Amino acid sequence: MQVPAPFEYERATTVDQAIGLLERLGSSARLVAGGHSLLPMMKLRLANFDYLIDINDLHAELGYVRVAQDEVRIGALTRHRELLESDELAAVLPIFREAERVIADPVVRNRGTLGGSLCQADPSEDLSAVCTTLDASCVIRGPGGAERVVTMEEFYVGPYETAVGDGEILTEIRIPLRAGGGSAYEKVERRAGDWAVVSAGAAVWLDGDGLIADARVGLAAVGPNTTGIPAISAALRGHEPGEELYERAGEIAAQSCRPATDQRGSADYKRHLAKELTGRTLRRAVERARS
Ligand SMILES: Cc1cc2nc3c(=O)[nH]c(=O)nc-3n(C[C@H](O)[C@H](O)[C@H](O)COP(=O)(O)OP(=O)(O)OC[C@H]3O[C@@H](n4cnc5c(N)ncnc54)[C@H](O)[C@@H]3O)c2cc1C
Repeated sequence: MQVPAPFEYERATTVDQAIGLLERLGSSARLVAGGHSLLPMMKLRLANFDYLIDINDLHAELGYVRVAQDEVRIGALTRHRELLESDELAAVLPIFREAERVIADPVVRNRGTLGGSLCQADPSEDLSAVCTTLDASCVIRGPGGAERVVTMEEFYVGPYETAVGDGEILTEIRIPLRAGGGSAYEKVERRAGDWAVVSAGAAVWLDGDGLIADARVGLAAVGPNTTGIPAISAALRGHEPGEELYERAGEIAAQSCRPATDQRGSADYKRHLAKELTGRTLRRAVERARS
């Protein structure tokens, strides 16, 4: 069935009004941003809601990329295309542009948003892997303007489930910037624009002696949620970057992930990809950190 069940439609004009509508309408209401995940699910009748609250008029309030000395702030309604095209963002966090180049197609990128991607909590979502890699925080606003900030680990409660509660809206993503950093993203897909078979992001920070001060790897499509791998960070810290270290990090990635066999590939193949992509992204992130 390619037609959604009937629903009422509201257009929010401010964030607080959207929150007020969510509060009033309860769990029978859902926000719609780009609609590229929600509407296909409603058309397939995998999800049914009595009310959709359209937040696209909030783009002036929630659509931005702000790069400061020590932090990047991105509004939840920032579209894939804006992330792809932001030179300022690519200069400090090239991982975003690399990920956006392999997300879907221009039609989806023109409308789909960062907030929608994160809130969909699909285990294969590329921007979730990027934000996990970068140790991002999520700003969630609720009734009365109350705000709370949660880590990516706290944000994901399970597949397709987040910490955003009834009457709340994700407003902003905050990413810390540290000196000496580099980042990269790689994805294997069955055809251009498809969801990941596996994808990996890496971020590396080098100290004044060229040793790894810190490193993070985030993987998508290998478990119930996109996942960071703290054991890789622990194994890399304090060491000189090099092929042996990338190999070791890849092995940890393969051992730590929990892929399922499905139409995109076997669990063994996905573990192999997790290993290979971890090594590749770390190598490129280090090259960028050095330059
Ligand atoms: C053909 C196709 C191919 C795709 N390929 C890829 C791909 O390769 N990689 C990839 O990562 N993604 C892919 N996507 C998904 C795409 O990135 C979507 O844009 C994204 O998943 C959802 O963003 P959206 O703004 O459209 O969210 P919507 O569909 O509008 O919303 C998704 C969910 O998030 C909630 N929500 C939205 N915004 C907020 C907010 N600010 N606060 C609280 N809740 C909110 C909604 O209520 C809904 O539950 C693909 C989609 C399509 C249709």
